Amino acid sequence: MNQSAEAPSSRSANGGSPAAAPVPAGTATPGQRALAWAHTARFLTTASKLDQLPPPALPEVAFVGRSNAGKSTAINTLANQRRLAYASKTPGRTQHINLFDVGPQDAPNLHWADLPGYGYAAVARGAKLRWQQVMADYLSHRHALAGIVMMVDSRHGFTTLDKQLLEFVAPRVGRGEVKLLVLLTKADKLNRSEQIKAISNAGQVLGETATDHADISLVLFSALARMGVEDAALVLHGWVTAPPVHTGEVAEAGAGLAATSAPSPAAVAEAPAPASPDDAPPLSPV
Ligand code: GDP
Repeated sequence: MNQSAEAPSSRSANGGSPAAAPVPAGTATPGQRALAWAHTARFLTTASKLDQLPPPALPEVAFVGRSNAGKSTAINTLANQRRLAYASKTPGRTQHINLFDVGPQDAPNLHWADLPGYGYAAVARGAKLRWQQVMADYLSHRHALAGIVMMVDSRHGFTTLDKQLLEFVAPRVGRGEVKLLVLLTKADKLNRSEQIKAISNAGQVLGETATDHADISLVLFSALARMGVEDAALVLHGWVTAPPVHTGEVAEAGAGLAATSAPSPAAVAEAPAPASPDDAPPLSPV
């Protein structure tokens, strides 16, 4: 296993990709448009209980993961901002749901919801149960929930807690109500054969959740190496702009591994792109 040092903390994580540079309208690739869209993410509000959240005016995508899985860094990297997900690291805010607007300034088309990390041993038992309940309530009852981005440390794969969360959301994912994108984070810490194994193992676990209606994607991701960032942005942007495509199979992407590493033939969901994705109607809240 690659023993390289941890990336700089999320507070110093900085997208700064060449793709972030302004691109003349009309010449941008779908990936560049997706990144530019993700870069518009801005803080909206924070809530410690479901009833403190604003009414579900827009579809929401929830970011979930074990503490330390790289969730804040992934959000900051997707948004190309150093401190967007910093609020979720602030003492007193770690157990809150933080909401972000994404899309045009005057007409955001999606909310990102940064949910509390789970499985952190140092959280007092009472507090842990309370916020796990907040998270469970959110994931099972929030009508606006249209998608889940789950961060899984690529070195560890799905842990018991991750699998419990997966089982918890499986009914909504299986019915196609909620889409799922799994980011195998910190992939820079793995060598190529370890990356192939990680994506294959994760694909197998996710295969158990796949149904004819499920829309599940798997991306090998590294904020440090900027691996999979555009793929992840494309999936998220596609959720807003493209009609749903249900293949019943897990779509995989990342570092060119998908074609060679899938446990079963990888089906990369190719949604027919609208003529101008930015003009397409947003998803309706579910
Ligand atoms: P969170 O608790 O899930 O929000 O996790 P963080 O985003 O704070 O990341 C936890 C640790 O993993 C920090 O030390 C990050 O610097 C490190 N980290 C996050 N993403 C990466 C990555 O892509 N590569 C490497 N090598 N380290 C990362």
